Amino acid sequence: MMRKGIGVINCGSSSIKFSLFSYGDGTDLQLLFKGQVDGIGMAPRFVAKTPEGTLLDQREWPDHQDVDRRTLLDFLIRWVSNHAENVNIQAAGHRVVHGGDAFSQPVRIDQAIVEQLETLIPLAPLHQPHNLAPIRTIAKLNPQLLQVACFDTAFHATNPPVARNFALPRALTAAGVHRYGFHGLSYEYIARRLPEIDPKSARGRVIVAHLGNGASMCALHHGRSIASTMGFTAVDGLPMGTRTGSLDPGVVLYLLRQREMDLDAVERLLYNESGLLGISQISNDMRVLIESDDMRAKEAIDFFVYRIRREVGALAAALEGLDALVFTAGIGEHAAPIRAAVCQSLQWLGVHLDPEANHKDGPRINAPHSDVAVWVVPTNEELMIATHTRDLMK
Ligand code: ADP
Repeated sequence: MMRKGIGVINCGSSSIKFSLFSYGDGTDLQLLFKGQVDGIGMAPRFVAKTPEGTLLDQREWPDHQDVDRRTLLDFLIRWVSNHAENVNIQAAGHRVVHGGDAFSQPVRIDQAIVEQLETLIPLAPLHQPHNLAPIRTIAKLNPQLLQVACFDTAFHATNPPVARNFALPRALTAAGVHRYGFHGLSYEYIARRLPEIDPKSARGRVIVAHLGNGASMCALHHGRSIASTMGFTAVDGLPMGTRTGSLDPGVVLYLLRQREMDLDAVERLLYNESGLLGISQISNDMRVLIESDDMRAKEAIDFFVYRIRREVGALAAALEGLDALVFTAGIGEHAAPIRAAVCQSLQWLGVHLDPEANHKDGPRINAPHSDVAVWVVPTNEELMIATHTRDLMK
């Protein structure tokens, strides 16, 4: 029997992630396959896997710096169509980093919406153009297909003005220079899962730590975002794989004026050369740092943990207490030593870890006497996008 399908695309600066979900009338979304092309601009590599992680297909374009995104995207779209057996693809859902002030919900895309989203490129110049490219490609290939944009900023639209604004003259705030917060699809997924996992905490005060290559934290009150560590751009807050996180803006002025760095060099420094990589000078990959004996790797980890502890303090203050702490994304889901170090540093707040449960990646990792529930919850941004897309088809 033919089932309906929804394709999900998350197109970033150096990778394109995709998944295909299917569903029948009144049945849940079911992941059929997922995969990605990474190494774009260097040596692109394509892999597709079953939901269980079995390899379905792979391909490499070694040393082909010049295989452009358009070619890779065409390849991907053809691959998905050819492998969608007995599935009639009804829609494509896209992750779009910035929804600005206009979009606090997912939206069905038409030409006018694409044009409106293009006006937000200056707010996320490194991400937004890549997010929009596949929307235009698919619209050309298949103008009838429903496309939906889901925004990383939207979930934080509930933040109150004090959490949202900078202490800038109000004309700038009104012009959109304020905190937006990101990783919203991940937080929304966790906020929806939490009532099933821990109903009591879900009604209370929760901090979610999304610790991946990009890292941020979000304060949830009754399942709604009231504050997050990321700001106007996704370079604020916690230190990340290669991004600085919070930095005195005076440093940027100093680099421009005294060091005479140009804008592109400063941008590269803030986004690509700092964070865990900048401190360690070894890697942006937490696995590599954990395995390393080098003092600099240890310093990078210590810095990461220290910044998380400081920001947990700030978010707990915004929440006026803490009922649960949730770890998610690559590091949050898999790096037991990092979770242990973070929890160790939060004992003053009533966080106490169960080392054995932590070693097994949870799901519940707090000790019985802990005042704060601590969870490991794998995030699923793709499922969130597919869910929104399906909701907008009705
Ligand atoms: P992205 O933000 O690109 O989606 P992920 O959420 O996949 O990133 O997280 C990537 C990070 O997770 C990397 O720093 C990686 O080293 C880390 N990570 C993944 N698995 C493990 C593990 N088993 N132990 C420690 N770190 C891990």
